[in-house]
Amino acid sequence: MTRVSNFTAGPAALPLAVLEQARDELLDFEGSGMSIMENSHRSKTYERVHDEALALMRELMGVPSSHQVLFLQGGARGQFAMVPLNFLSSGKSADYLLTGVWSEGAFEEAQTLGKVRTAGSTKGVGYTRVLRQEELELDAGAAYVHMTTNNTIYGTQWRSEPEVGGVPLVADASSDILSRRIDVSKYAMIYAGAQKNIGPSGVVVVIAREDFLSSGRKDIPQVWRYATHAKANSLWHTPPTFAIYLVRGVLRWVKSVGGLAQIERWNDEKAALLYSTIDADPEYWRCPVERESRSKMNVVWRLPSEALDEKFVKEATAAGLVGLKGYRTVGGIRASIYNAVSVADVARLCDFMKAFAAANRP
Ligand SMILES: *Cc1c(COP(=O)(O)O)cnc(C)c1O
Repeated sequence: MTRVSNFTAGPAALPLAVLEQARDELLDFEGSGMSIMENSHRSKTYERVHDEALALMRELMGVPSSHQVLFLQGGARGQFAMVPLNFLSSGKSADYLLTGVWSEGAFEEAQTLGKVRTAGSTKGVGYTRVLRQEELELDAGAAYVHMTTNNTIYGTQWRSEPEVGGVPLVADASSDILSRRIDVSKYAMIYAGAQKNIGPSGVVVVIAREDFLSSGRKDIPQVWRYATHAKANSLWHTPPTFAIYLVRGVLRWVKSVGGLAQIERWNDEKAALLYSTIDADPEYWRCPVERESRSKMNVVWRLPSEALDEKFVKEATAAGLVGLKGYRTVGGIRASIYNAVSVADVARLCDFMKAFAAANRP
């Protein structure tokens, strides 16, 4: 068996130890004589897995008692709709901070459900950075402010939360949740599809303040109300049990290596390695992102020509460095260096880059 260095944007690399454990207990989970997938979601066996995953999420992220953790379905895009559906009640509008494709998607979905405003956008500069505080035009009476903490496609990331006064801050953190320590109390809600840093696709993690959750609309179908899932410990209907079981594995792994403090050190180290390789040869590699906005999760850059971009991806793949092609509408190169991508994987990529540049000068 050869495992590649996987730089795919999502679904993405998972820690090998988590996959090995899943393999080992696939046919007989903890002596139940069946896989975890075949256990009822109402069984004690599954419930222990479910509760441990929720508790680990809370522990690792330092979620305060004011906030709840939920496991939902429908992907991050489901949240693009569920947020306005619950919180965009008549009379109010919501503010959206536009910093890339995903925030635009959230904004468009909200437009179909109520009144929304753009409270800042970096579209004019090709989304090559996030917003500065002084650029925000916030509505003090907004139902919420929506932001994307890490822009997976353009390779930009907020260093800290914007100041939004007393307005609830809602964040799509799909591509940088669990990558660093954050102050959860600053957010009314954080949501993330699991498939980048938390586990496989099929489950969405929502962390939200209880009073915010319970302020949601009551005149919408139960399945789309956050309150329904909050009251039922995310077991109101059948959850994606196997995905949550793998999430538990990933969270156990994060804890075993030293929690978010260690994960953050590794992520800083990986990003520094890769950006310094890019910066060391500015004639050859070009990162379009403004320095202060550079993402530590998705690193984007270009070679001197599109033909070389293509050749680079092809030869990297052959060398076991996969998933490096930039997003289809953006082009170039993108290395997603999520938690399960090791410092050694990134070092291997940097070595490959230096050798490639030396052999392919235009
Ligand atoms: C991947 C991604 C999404 C899309 O997630 P789905 O689960 O496919 O809906 C949304 N937002 C961000 C920031 C992402 O990285």
